[in-house]
Formats: sequence, C-alpha cells, structure tokens
Amino acid sequence: MPEIIYGSLIAEKCRTETAEKTAHLKKRTGKAPRLDVIIAGDNPASRIYVRNKEKAAANTGIVSIVHALPVETPRENLLQRIAELNENPEVNGILVQLPLPNPEDEKIVTQAVSPDKDVDGFHPLNLGRLMLREDGFTPCTPRGCMRLIHSVLPDISGLNAVVIGRSTIVGKPMAQLLLNADATVTTTHSKTTDLPSVCRRADILVAAVGIPRFVKAGWVRDGAVVIDVGINRLENGTLCGDVDFEAVLPKCRAITPVPKGVGPMTIAMLMENTVEAFCRQNGIDPAQRTNPSL
Ligand code: NAD
Repeated sequence: MPEIIYGSLIAEKCRTETAEKTAHLKKRTGKAPRLDVIIAGDNPASRIYVRNKEKAAANTGIVSIVHALPVETPRENLLQRIAELNENPEVNGILVQLPLPNPEDEKIVTQAVSPDKDVDGFHPLNLGRLMLREDGFTPCTPRGCMRLIHSVLPDISGLNAVVIGRSTIVGKPMAQLLLNADATVTTTHSKTTDLPSVCRRADILVAAVGIPRFVKAGWVRDGAVVIDVGINRLENGTLCGDVDFEAVLPKCRAITPVPKGVGPMTIAMLMENTVEAFCRQNGIDPAQRTNPSL
C-alpha cells in the first residue's frame, strides 16, 4: 500500500522537540532564542507566511519580533535595519520575507544578513558550506524534504534521485542535500529534454516547479518516493501540488500530499535553524538534545 507522508504530523513532532529544547536552553542560559522577521510591503501571501511563523515561534518558546516596513521603504533603510539586527546580540536569527517589493533588492538584502544569523540559509557563505558539507544553515524547505524522505528511506545511499527545478531556495540545495546523503542526483529544469524518461529513473523524485499537477503517473517508476514541494492555487481557490497526486499515488512507495506535506516542514525547520543559531552564538553544541531518546 502506498504511504502518504504527512509532513504536518512530522512537523508537529519536530515542533515538540524544538519546544523541549528551547525550554531546556532557557533554563540553562536564562534566555530564549529570538527570531526577527523583516517584511516590507503588504503582499497578502507574505503576511500569511509571517503570521504562521509567529505562531510556530510562540508554540516553540521562540521570541519572534516582526519588523513590518512600508512598501516604499528604500533599500538603504532595509540595509540599515539589517545592520542593526546583525549587531544586536539579543537577536539570534534574521529572516527577510521574500519577495521584496523591489525584486532587484533581494540579492543585496539577502547577502547583508550576517551568515551567523541567516536562518533561511540563503547567504552565499551558507550555500557554500552546504556544498562543502560544513556546519552552516540549510535552507528550510529542502531540509524539511530530507526529513520526509528519511522518514521512509533512512538510508538513500546509491539511490537515484531526480529533482525537478533548480531554484536557489529549493532545487539546488535539495540536489546538494541528496548528494551529501550519497544519492546519485540528477537536477532537471525548464530546458531538460525528455523529462518524463529522466524522471522514470528516480527512486526519489522531488518536484519543485510551480506548475499544477505537472508530474504525471507515467513519469513515476513503480515504488518511487515522491516529494511534492509545489504550492499552486487553482482558480477555485484550492491548493494543489506539482504532482498529479491521485494518478501518481498508486505507483508510489510513498508520496507527500499538498497541503499538509512539505509546507508545514518548512516552518518547523526555520524554528530548528533559529535554535541552532542560538546554540552556536552561546557556545552550545546544537546537536545536544534535552532528551536523548527524541
Ligand atoms: P522557481 O520559479 O524559482 O523555480 C522553478 C523551477 O522549475 C525552475 O528552476 C525552472 O527551471 C523549473 N521549471 C519550470 N518549468 C519547467 C518545466 N516545464 N520542466 C522542468 N522544469 C521546469 O520556483 P521555486 O521557488 O523553486 O518554487 C517551486 C514551487 O515550490 C512553487 O510552487 C512554490 O510555491 C513552491 N514552494 C513551496 C515551499 C514550501 O514550503 N512548501 C517553499 C518554496 C517554494
């Protein structure tokens, strides 16, 4: 029977573990981890994401401060705010909610966040560390996808993994994480020829494209594990992923749904990254667990 991997349930477990860790850190240091989120403008989707992040922080004992800036905020002011947060020792993690009103600001603003507080993992230094398998911050969505994959395949060494999409926030770090875990990885994109036959080689197929129900049943090898990162809003207001879920489900060993799949994991991983930032900034080994059985 194909298994549906409910990221919502796994994220809940991660949040419980993070809350326990935060409580322990608070007892040990007298401080709680703190995440500062900068949001510029009034993009409705961004506002919902930021509200969800605040909720998750509250549930895990993390202090979250939202800096809501007007849409016309000049780049210099954004950079000034980031510089202040970089220097403030009370702040452990900084996240700039994307997209920014002016997309041209995104690169310079992302790179202005201190790599030690870059809990989104988008700074070039952290992306480089990921490539070098050194300690740093891993982008939250691919990190969450790896947890979901490992929930059904604890060892992926030697398996064929295909990633559809090569964005900096999902596709590329996803491929790197799979490679770091010793999978044989193929990254595909809009210029890939004969994508269906490339996908049919996959033991693990990750779709991060942004096209509703793009991946068809005929593209999926029997027994594959399918991770659907896509979040697409249909005209009737409902959400669907990049995978034709109903058709693909019977062919899989396991598959993530949309919603309740990858989405909740992204925020859970952001909380974990914030706790890791706190630990590193306070000289505590982030791997240290409050309860070794967790
Ligand atoms: P993006 O637009 O930056 O990248 C899309 C990628 O898909 C590109 O690399 C492009 O080459 C590839 N692509 C486009 N058309 C293609 C085609 N016909 N064949 C093969 N590849 C093709 O998007 P993104 O930021 O990586 O996001 C991808 C999807 O994941 C979106 O639906 C987004 O909403 C979703 N997303 C979800 C989460 C989450 O938390 N679940 C987080 C980030 C993004």
